[in-house]
Amino acid sequence: AKILAVNGTPLSGPPRAALLVFHNITELRRLERMRQDFVANVSHELKTPLASIRAYADSLLDWALEDPEITRRFVSQIDEQAERLDVLIHDLLSLARIESGQDLITFRPLALAPLVERRVESFRDRAQSRNVSLSFVTELPPQFTILADEEALRQILDNLIDNAIKYSSDVDPWVKVVCRGDGEAGMVAIDVIDNGLGIASEEQTRIFERFYRVDKARSRERGGTGLGLAIVKHLVQALRGEIELQSRVGAGSRFTVRLPRQRPANPSDPALGASN
Ligand code: ADP
Repeated sequence: AKILAVNGTPLSGPPRAALLVFHNITELRRLERMRQDFVANVSHELKTPLASIRAYADSLLDWALEDPEITRRFVSQIDEQAERLDVLIHDLLSLARIESGQDLITFRPLALAPLVERRVESFRDRAQSRNVSLSFVTELPPQFTILADEEALRQILDNLIDNAIKYSSDVDPWVKVVCRGDGEAGMVAIDVIDNGLGIASEEQTRIFERFYRVDKARSRERGGTGLGLAIVKHLVQALRGEIELQSRVGAGSRFTVRLPRQRPANPSDPALGASN
């Protein structure tokens, strides 16, 4: 698209070029700010659990070892914080691999409904421990296949189901996962629906950003890193799909992942990776 006028003033020759360069610099600045924010966020997220580990370890060395009960409590805190670091580093590395295109996506035929059902079942115990009633419904026959990457799909589903359970309601919580055809020909849809906290409309695009959390304390307390949905968004894109969110505060959320049944042809695309 050509920019021919700005605020009604026609552009000719050099001013147009200047405007485009200016635009590119603003975009570069924006990217640079995002990079700086990201680095600041990473440092903060890594330092917090580390500071806490050191504080518990120092207290143990100074005085707390005398009391076996306090020792047990502090050591278990150290263990919990180390686990948090582990999850965070794992998520950061996955995100870096996916973003750089190194996580090669291999499109293979997958029986969709059985795969989704296995992922739902893998959350059965966690759901039960939080009194969340978890169900799976499919409108697709078990032999219905799509071309997709199994590991990518697994990560997408695990993050969405984990969130649905994590941010569930306090009263009669439920999570429902549905596999269905989509109105659009050649697409399938997977819904992950909960009756939990819900997300305000102004937060709905932001939650896909790295480290964005509506309620940091709640996310942390439930083991969140703020990276799950950023990973999901990139993986859905790599599978040539789309993700949509419908949600209302206090009523619940519905995340819908739409995927093409066939791999869309675009051989020059690096995300198609080894399968080409
Ligand atoms: P986290 O590790 O914090 O869960 P995510 O990237 O997975 O990070 O999600 C980002 C934020 O989006 C969460 O902190 C939470 O505030 C919000 N969120 C995600 N899924 C849901 C959901 N099903 N219901 C309500 N809020 C959600």
